[in-house]
This record gives sequence, structure tokens and C-alpha cells, in this order.
Amino acid sequence: MVLPKTADNVVIGGGVIGTSIAFHLARMGAGTVVLLERKQLAAGSTGMSSGLVRMHYDNPLEAKVALKSFDTFRHFDEIVGGECGFVRTGFLRTVKAHNIETLKANVTVLQHLGVNTWLVSRDEIREMAPYLNADDVPLAAYEPDSGYADPHLTTMGFANAARRHGARIFQGVEVIGIEVNGSRVTGVQTLQGRIATPVVINAAGPWGALVAALAGVRLDLTVMYHQVAVVEAPPEVPWPHLTIIDRLYRIYLRPETGRLTLVGASHDNSTIGTDQLDTYSESLTYETRNRVLERLCSRIPGMETGAVHKGHAGIYGSSRDKHALLGSAPSVKGFYCAVGFSGHGFKEAPIAGQAMAELIVNGRAEVVDITPLRLARFEEGESYQGPYPYE
Ligand SMILES: Cc1cc2nc3c(=O)[nH]c(=O)nc-3n(C[C@H](O)[C@H](O)[C@H](O)COP(=O)(O)OP(=O)(O)OC[C@H]3O[C@@H](n4cnc5c(N)ncnc54)[C@H](O)[C@@H]3O)c2cc1C
Repeated sequence: MVLPKTADNVVIGGGVIGTSIAFHLARMGAGTVVLLERKQLAAGSTGMSSGLVRMHYDNPLEAKVALKSFDTFRHFDEIVGGECGFVRTGFLRTVKAHNIETLKANVTVLQHLGVNTWLVSRDEIREMAPYLNADDVPLAAYEPDSGYADPHLTTMGFANAARRHGARIFQGVEVIGIEVNGSRVTGVQTLQGRIATPVVINAAGPWGALVAALAGVRLDLTVMYHQVAVVEAPPEVPWPHLTIIDRLYRIYLRPETGRLTLVGASHDNSTIGTDQLDTYSESLTYETRNRVLERLCSRIPGMETGAVHKGHAGIYGSSRDKHALLGSAPSVKGFYCAVGFSGHGFKEAPIAGQAMAELIVNGRAEVVDITPLRLARFEEGESYQGPYPYE
């Protein structure tokens, strides 16, 4: 493998965000595009992602990004090319009792944005999904079109499409230095050589703060550790079932190929330090396995006889207000970041990538205004939140 000596754009990180950015840059004719991934594509957060694709948010910006991205998931072959594995299951979002009024307000906002969603009462939930225990759910939001997609396939789809448009993707190449001359990016250093470039895009996911530090840029990113169990759904549970984000039990669930149910143990999320980014355990712990099963069975009583098939754990980067950091670094010209997507980056990747490419090529994101997510917002004493945030 011989790296090019120069490139017009260098993307760092081959997850779903980096490959989406590379695809959009190449598609837009932004000059030469090189993507560097230190391991293999989808080796980071993306490879462990649960892949939920839905549009329910408590802020209009992310809802818009998810809604526009949804179009890509549904028409992946036409827009990107290849398969993303999207499966429509229908989606339910529950909230705690004190958030019911906020739920109503958010559903109204989402409907105005064009999301196909409405409120469903306890009786309607029982009718729609008799296998659910809805005793503690007076009201929920429903999206009939939502479901999940395959993060590996999606990433490969973006990468292959980027290549077809001329981008070059190098795996097993770690960026160990970012050159800044004056206040301008001039190149990246790797163990395999140097690439001179005026544009560097940091799409390094949970490693985003470390990569930013190479350019002398400080990013306020926390790294979250999140575990997932995969359970064999017993015959008494109808399958495929709905995809659900259940804020009452702080779990989410969706069907998984092979009559399985994937359950996210959000109740046991924890933070990890930067020293653990490459050493954290990718296994589901015994304690979390028990706790998440208990919660799953409370929501779907028929799961009592379901056996845990497997489990895994992954990490993702999270900013102070839990929204992505998207944009250029004010102190280093030519250095851009697209990190800190928390647990929602997969479903936002198609449009986050397009917005970043537009910002880099045209100086402004047209597809959706991402300035509320600019890198400097915390230093400016601001953070982003929608009009009706859940507590
Ligand atoms: C368990 C789990 C479940 C999730 N479930 C969902 C979900 O259901 N729906 C949803 O929308 N989102 C979900 N997410 C979040 C989503 O997966 C992430 O937001 C998204 O994958 C982030 O993609 P990324 O490309 O930014 O980061 P990553 O996928 O982490 O990619 C960053 C890449 O950069 C590489 N890299 C790092 N440093 C360097 C360097 N110096 N040089 C070269 N390469 C480097 C890494 O190896 C990595 O491959 C989940 C996350 C996890 C962990």
C-alpha cells in the first residue's frame, strides 16, 4: 500500500460518519478525497451499533437530519448504491409520566416537520401489540415507517460509493500527527507516510478528542460505554415485533435476524476514560445481562422463557449537550470535526455527511443548518436543545 503524497481532503475515521462524508465529498467533486482508517471500516462505534432508524427527537434539528436521512435508508440503492439492510418494523417511543405533555408537544413539532407519527393510547398499544405490557404506558409516540438498518452494510455502501466517485480508502493506517502551519492545516502524518492536504476532517468517533488534540484543538467529549443483549424470542412472542425506545425501563429493543430480539441496556450506561478507549471489554457483563432481561420481561412478559443468545458492548462519543459537534475549528483553518453523536449517529449519518461536505465545499451546509451544532458553542456559553426537552 502506497499512500498518495497529496490530497485535497483527508477524512480520518472509517465509521458510518467518515464514509458518508467521503462519499458526499467525492460525489460533489471536491477534488481528491482520501479516507484513513486505523483498523478496518466500521471498527469503532459503528460496528457495535444497534442500527435503530427512527425520527423521534425532542429537538427539530436532529429530527430534520433523521427525517432526511430516512429517505436514504429507504432508497439506499438509488441514492448511494447497494444495500443498507433497512427493515421496517414500526416504532414506539414511551416516556415517563412527567414527560407526557412534552411528548405531545414533540409529536406536534415532528408532524409539522413532515414525520409520519402520531400519539397512541394504552388501549391502542394493546390492540397494536398485545404482547406488550402497557399497564404503565398511558401514551406513546408511534412511527409506522421506522425500524432498523445494518451498520456494516451501510458503511460499506458509503465506502464503495465513495470509491466509485474516485475517493481512496486506506485501512490499517492510523493518523499520528496533524500538521498545522500558522493557523492552517497543511498535512497529516501516519506511520506509512505523510499526506499534504489543506483539509482534514476528524470523523474519529470516540477517538475524536484525541484526534482533535493532534491539531491543537480541544474538544469537550465524553466517552460512553453501552451494552447490548441479544435474546432468543420464545414462540409465544410474535416476531418480528415493534422496535421500541422505552424510557420507563431505559431499554430499547428491536427484532434481529433469526427470531432474535436485540435489547439495549441504556440503564447501565457508564463513562470510560480515554485510557480505556482501546482496552474496554466488548462483552456483556453478567450483572447487566440479568438487569436488562428483567426489564425486557417486564415490558414483554412472553420473553420470560427467552434465552440470551449473545451480547456485546461498544462505546460512543458524547458532547456536553449530547448533540454532535459539527463544523470547522475556529482556531485551525481547514480542520473540521464531525464527532460526538452520542447514541444517535447511525441514523443521522447520511445527512450529517452531506451537511459536512457542503460546508467544506460551499462554506455552508444547505441540506440542513448545522450552525447550532458548531464546535465553539460551549465556549460561547451556549448549548443546543429543542423547545420541549425531555427531563
Ligand atoms: C452499542 C451501540 C449501539 C448504538 N445504537 C445506535 C442506534 O441504534 N442508532 C443510532 O443512530 N446510533 C446508535 N449508536 C451510535 C452510533 O453507532 C454512532 O453514533 C456512530 O456509529 C458513530 O459513527 P462514527 O463514524 O462517528 O464513529 P466510529 O464508528 O467510531 O468511527 C470512527 C473510526 O475512526 C477510527 N479512528 C480513530 N482514531 C483514528 C486515527 N487516529 N486514525 C485513523 N482512524 C482512526 C476508528 O478506528 C473508527 O473506526 C450506537 C452506538 C453503540 C456503541
